[in-house]
Amino acid sequence: KMTQVSDMLDEVADRFSFQLRQRKIRIHIQVDPDVTSLLIDRDKIDQVLDNLVSNAIKYTGDEGAIQLSARRSNKNDLEITVQDNGIGIPKKDLARIFERFYRVDKARSRNMGGTGLGLSIAREIVKAHGGTIHLDSELGQGTKVMFTLPMQSGEGEAL
Ligand code: ATP
Ligand code: MG
Repeated sequence: KMTQVSDMLDEVADRFSFQLRQRKIRIHIQVDPDVTSLLIDRDKIDQVLDNLVSNAIKYTGDEGAIQLSARRSNKNDLEITVQDNGIGIPKKDLARIFERFYRVDKARSRNMGGTGLGLSIAREIVKAHGGTIHLDSELGQGTKVMFTLPMQSGEGEAL
């Protein structure tokens, strides 16, 4: 079954609507017109999106803003970006951020809850789909996570 990308992004925003409203964080969704639908393991990709959006909410102050966007990065790949204007990540931590249990520092994460597994799980799922994931961040400015998904699955692949 094909997944409509704009529906998928609307639905992830809906799943967090309570927290978003509570924290007065606005979410903006942008899907390029040439992005339509693709064949993916929807539950797994929802897990990736939930991890990334929950991080964006956790590490962004009240009244912050989150951008969810989808575009074709080239002929064969869909690129989804989750961007926030939150606390950001120090440069020295960026290299280790996808490691299991890695969290930036205990002091700032203490009250946030979590185990440090979200990003490592997200990376595993994206890799299993034949995509890549990257994170870019500026301390005090915000964080942007981009991942790609092939628009066509490999022949005979069970998804
Ligand atoms: P879990 O996802 O298991 O609940 P977690 O959110 O701490 O716990 P990850 O999602 O793997 O773990 O993220 C690892 C660390 O990267 C976080 O502890 C946090 O310090 C930092 N981080 C992740 N996303 C962001 C973000 N959007 N803004 C700022 N820091 C982030
Ligand atoms: Mg997380």
